[in-house]
Parts: sequence; structure tokens; C-alpha cells
Amino acid sequence: MRVFLTGGAGYIGSVVAEELVASGHEVIVYDDLSKGHRDAVIEEATFVEGDVLDYDTLLGALREHAVEAVVHMAARSLVGESVSHPADYYRTNVTGGLVLLEAMRAAGVSPIVFSSTAAVYGESAKQPIEETDPISPTNPYGETKLAYEHALRWFDRAYGIRYVSLRYFNAAGATARCGERHDPETHLIPLVLKVAAGELPEAVVFGDDYPTRDGTCVRDYIHVKDLARAHVLSLESLARGAESRIYNLGCGGEGYTVQEVIEVARDVSGRDIPVRKGPRRAGDPAVLVASSARIAEELGFRPALSDLREIVASAWSWMQAKASHRDAA
Ligand code: UDP
Repeated sequence: MRVFLTGGAGYIGSVVAEELVASGHEVIVYDDLSKGHRDAVIEEATFVEGDVLDYDTLLGALREHAVEAVVHMAARSLVGESVSHPADYYRTNVTGGLVLLEAMRAAGVSPIVFSSTAAVYGESAKQPIEETDPISPTNPYGETKLAYEHALRWFDRAYGIRYVSLRYFNAAGATARCGERHDPETHLIPLVLKVAAGELPEAVVFGDDYPTRDGTCVRDYIHVKDLARAHVLSLESLARGAESRIYNLGCGGEGYTVQEVIEVARDVSGRDIPVRKGPRRAGDPAVLVASSARIAEELGFRPALSDLREIVASAWSWMQAKASHRDAA
């Protein structure tokens, strides 16, 4: 299939591009490079620089490349930032996403795989969370992703644009080519590894008075390559005519606390990681752990690389390789 991948220059997008190409698909990456990196776009993909708010460029690209399916990942994705800058989140995640859907309608393109988030659930009363559990986002990030899921439902009903919405839990880890490099970095695993590498003086734990086993937040970490594979499975099931679906994308189990992630990072890197306790971060639910039964049952998806040690080790190797590359340059 010829797949149009918005946000394909970003961390997860670049790995999804790799996985699509490895599965025999043609990939057209569409990215405005506001967060992504031009050199993260894999060389097998065609690159179009553009904004998701730009209807004419979107429509032109969908037509020119005779696109058959869309994976929509271009978005603002930081919980804390979304609380302080909700306008940016509504503009990109809702308005931009709707412009894309309009361009798809005009070009006659369906289906779409959408990057949603566990943040749609908010403080869930029940763990692990199932897709049928109540949704109640605690921050604009989750709220905007939920608004888009609702739009997808109505666009499917009225215009026949079928979709899979993947509610990501915590993507982490790296492949040999693609890893996490946000600027500024806000995610836990790359931050603690930066401390291990001596690039930052200390890690900060955002709150240690949550109702969890050690007082720090529990998250469900999934290897980015496993996560990317779920996109390919979703796309291929839609191509076979499957109906629109929403799937959680995590590993389930007990999840890991912030403190446990730091311990594993110490162990994997063999380095000291000084830690300071800080206040809670706005908008953070205490626990987010997926039930991944639905996607396992319907698409046969099982995470293969998502042991926390393996995730952290892959991120650490990627950082080390990048650092030695930098030193050699
Ligand atoms: N976190 C932390 N210190 C940091 C970054 C994150 O304690 O420097 C915590 C954060 O509060 C959350 C968890 O680590 O409970 C994962 O945060 P991250 O930003 O990696 O992902 P999110 O869950 O927001 O998608």
C-alpha cells in the first residue's frame, strides 16, 4: 500500500516508517519538522514538508502520490505543556486533524490509523484499563485526542472513512536507527539515561505521594518497535475490510513505577543516577496500565520486545551509539 504518514520525522513516526517499509509498504512522510528531524526520515520514504493545517499541500500530496491509506501521528503530545498551552493542542491535534480528514475526503482516501493515547482515560477507577472503561481526560492532550476519536466515529458513519485508533500507553526504547530525541526532552526514560550519561546532573521524580506501591506514578512501557508493528497490523486489517476499532496499546501486567524505571536504568547503564524529589506534574494520573486483550485477540498482537530491561537497554545503546558518532565527527 502507499501509506501517507503524518509525523513520520518524529520519534515514533520514524520507527513506524521503518516497520511499514519492512512490511513491503511504500511510505510518504508528511511532517513540518517543528518537532521531528529531517534525518530521522528513513531514506526509503518519500518526504513532503508540510503542516497538517495546510489543506492545499495535504490534498496535493495525497493526490500526487495516489495515497491508499493514512497513518496520522503528527501531533502535540506533552501532558504538562498541554495544560499550560491548550490552544496549541486544540490547533494542531483537533483543527489540524480535521483539515487532514477534509483532504482525505476530497481525495477519496480511506482508511486511517490514528495515534491516540491512554490519556483519554484520565484517573481510571480500574486497572488494567479496557477500551470500554469510562473516559475522562485530566489534561488538554487527552481531551484533544478524544475529540479527534469522536470526529473519526462520525466521519466513518457519514463518509465511510474507516479507522483504527490506537491508544498508546508509554512508548519507549529505540531501534538501531531511530531513537528518542526531543528538544527539550521531557520523557522519563531518555531523561534518566541522560543523567546516566552525564549530560544532566540529576533526575527529578515528579511526586512521590501517589497511591501506588512506592508513591511514584505507574506507567505501562511498550517498546516503540512493538508499538510500530501494531500500526502495520491495524492498517493491514483495515485493508482487508475490517470495521473501525479502538485498541489499547500497552503491555498490561503491573506496569512500572518511576522509581523502578530509575533502578533499571542504573542497572543497565552501570552508572550512578542522582535523583531529586520534585512536586507532582500537572495533569498526571497516578496509574495508567493497559488491558491489551482486545488487540491480542482481534489482530494477534503480542509485544515481543517490551521487557523493561530490554526497552531501557535499547534506548541506552542508541544514545551511546549517537554519542560516539558525535565524538567521531
Ligand atoms: N516523570 C518524572 N520525571 C521526569 C519525567 C517524567 O517523574 O523527569 C514521570 C511522569 O510524572 C510520569 C512518568 O514519569 O508519571 C512518565 O512520564 P513521561 O513524560 O515519560 O510520559 P507520559 O506518561 O507523560 O506520557
